[in-house]
Amino acid sequence: MNRPPEGLAPKSPPTWARWTYHGYVVGANKVAQYVWSRGPLVVLSSLILADFHGEQRWQWLVSASVNLNEKAKRGAVVSSPIDVSGRLKRRATDAELDRFKRDFGLQNAEEDNHSPGCARMFFLLCDAKPTDPVACECKETEEVVVEPDGFTWSKGRNADADQARAAAASMQLIGRLRE
Ligand SMILES: [Zn+2]
Repeated sequence: MNRPPEGLAPKSPPTWARWTYHGYVVGANKVAQYVWSRGPLVVLSSLILADFHGEQRWQWLVSASVNLNEKAKRGAVVSSPIDVSGRLKRRATDAELDRFKRDFGLQNAEEDNHSPGCARMFFLLCDAKPTDPVACECKETEEVVVEPDGFTWSKGRNADADQARAAAASMQLIGRLRE
């Protein structure tokens, strides 16, 4: 397993922004995903080494979905990852993500979804350079599906082109919390 360079950590919100931290879960790819919530919004934050236009680059991957679990809907502070495991969830709207993006420093992140799930995925190169392409190459090489609610995702036609990123993104992130 590749270790991130010293000093590089998953994105986290400032303490004054009043997010609740729930610990982390480790996915099948051995990447730790740090779980945060604020009201019904559930966020998984990780650091991944993944392909970007043919190069392995460290990237922040932060995903958000809305948990419709009754407790979270009432604004209760959810105390453990188990409690945020409501089966009902939905995609967050752009308005719901405004604050999330600000708090996690994702204003320049690229939304890149590789499956039609509820989580909206945001990627940001840790060592972004002005000469980098803006978007993941999947948007040029794969079939892009736009759903009625505007949610856009790429259907992998060429698994090799986007493998590492797709693998990271297609993890059933919230599903891990149900265990
Ligand atoms: Zn992509």
